[in-house]
This record gives sequence, C-alpha cells and structure tokens, in this order.
Amino acid sequence: MQIIDVYTKKEYECKICKGKVYYAKVTNDKGELYTIDNLLPNGKYGKESNVLTCQVDTLVKDQVHKCQKTNISEKIKELEGKQPTLNTQVQERPKTKEMSVTDFAEPAMRKEIEVHCKVLRIIEDEVNKFLGKDVNPTRVGMWMKMIYDMMEQKKK
Ligand SMILES: [Zn+2]
Repeated sequence: MQIIDVYTKKEYECKICKGKVYYAKVTNDKGELYTIDNLLPNGKYGKESNVLTCQVDTLVKDQVHKCQKTNISEKIKELEGKQPTLNTQVQERPKTKEMSVTDFAEPAMRKEIEVHCKVLRIIEDEVNKFLGKDVNPTRVGMWMKMIYDMMEQKKK
C-alpha cells in the first residue's frame, strides 16, 4: 500500500484524536488507485469520488493516520478480495500416470515386477555374500541401492 497525492491543502481535524490531518489517496503496491467500487477512478470532484482516500498526519504524509490504520487496511483487504483477478481458476493438474491395483494385475506388469524382485533378490544374495552374514541390514540396503543404481545407469 502506498499513500499518494495528498490533495487537501486545508487541515482537517481527526474526530477521534483531534489531531491535524490531510486527506490523501491510497494505492496498491503497484501504484494503482484503490476505488471503493472497484471501477476505474471516475475523475469526479477533482479527487475522483470513488477513489479510496485516507487521513494522513499533516507532518507524516506517507502513512495512514493512526486512528484510521485498521479501518483502511480492512477496507483494502475487502476491496482486494472483491477484485476480479484473473488466473484464479483452479488449474487442472497435469495428469500423472498413477499405478492402480488393476495395473499390477496386468500379466505384463506382474512379469515385470517378478523380474524386478528376482533381480533384487540376486543383488541381495550377492551383497550378503560379499559383506558377510553379520552385517548391518542398512548396509546391505545401501549396497543394494548402489548396485541397483549402477545397473540403471548402464541401461541408459
Ligand atoms: Zn486521529
């Protein structure tokens, strides 16, 4: 949020704290004016009567006057909620091929899994032979993974 264009020369009095204030226009971070009806600024009465305005201290002109801070930020939240934003449509996720139970029931798939398991079994046996019987199972797993990855690399 930004405060631009303090458009009153006259000092006004804040009804709450009796402090001296001016009025200014409020924009979003891109410098676009907020309008209370979410339409374009209408240019009426020199200050565009539908533009969101706020009080600013006469000395601190780039911040909303303290008594209005909550009020204005709530207003902005409300306006931003209403703004017709593009790209809010829920984007359809790209469909990834997911395996389902029926896929696994496919004979071709079963065959593939069977082969896969056999390969893993052989690797496990070999790793066990290599590392010896009393080795930590996580080490066996690590070795299996390493060998498996090497095999996958070779396929490419
Ligand atoms: Zn005040």
